[in-house]
Amino acid sequence: MNYNLIEINDLHVNINNIPILQGVNLCIKAGEIHAIMGKNGSGKSTLAKVIAGHPNYNITQGNIKFNGENITYMTPEERAIKGIFLAFQYPIEIPGVSNADFLRLAYNAKQKAYKKAELDPLSFFELINKQIHKIDINPQFLSRNVNEGFSGGEKKKNEILQMVLLDSKLGILDEIDSGLDIDALKNISININSILTKEKSIIIITHYQRILDYIVPNYIHIMEEGKIIYTGNADTAKQLETHGYKSIIQNK
Ligand code: ADP
Ligand code: MG
Repeated sequence: MNYNLIEINDLHVNINNIPILQGVNLCIKAGEIHAIMGKNGSGKSTLAKVIAGHPNYNITQGNIKFNGENITYMTPEERAIKGIFLAFQYPIEIPGVSNADFLRLAYNAKQKAYKKAELDPLSFFELINKQIHKIDINPQFLSRNVNEGFSGGEKKKNEILQMVLLDSKLGILDEIDSGLDIDALKNISININSILTKEKSIIIITHYQRILDYIVPNYIHIMEEGKIIYTGNADTAKQLETHGYKSIIQNK
């Protein structure tokens, strides 16, 4: 079924009274992949964080609907439980907390919210072992502290592992490709493609067309000054790579 998974209507957002998003409209159907591109400072990460419910941003106008439900003022936890996942541009390190414990707590929080059984460390270990095979992660990652000493590529992979584990419906991947060499990029793209279904949607925020060669988007949006100023198809990224943002903005 081709229902709207997320609908963003005329979204205006301030931070410290400075307007950052200035009327974003975006509609993503279940199963679709959308890419968001645009210069530094155009508001891409802000949009990602606002969808995930980051508390520092102040929504002054407009709304966000997820699966038909108004989530504009819900907490990040409520949104995560409903199936929204944000992979951070800069994943944080959490010293003193093992990845396995972190993942289990996240998983159990969702189980609890759905009134399903929470898993003890041993049962969780069985579950997570299956998942890490799926996305080709070294099992040693589980016993290490969250992201501590991980390479850029490993941090990004760890974000995908969280998304897989939580079985999120909408994955927002903020520059998941930045800092990755070509093999790591291919690998993470294969992992992402392998978990996509007709019910799942992805937003890929990127500066580069190369990830879009592997994960082909249905639509590409260009942001500028807190708005989506252009929407094109997968070829838009190629045009951008050759002719730059100006070519698209001038012809809009
Ligand atoms: P992008 O991800 O497209 O590079 P961002 O969403 O990170 O852009 O930033 C959009 C604009 O919002 C930038 O001008 C940035 O300086 C500003 N901004 C983001 N966060 C803050 C903040 N905490 N305080 C003030 N300005 C911010
Ligand atoms: Mg950003």
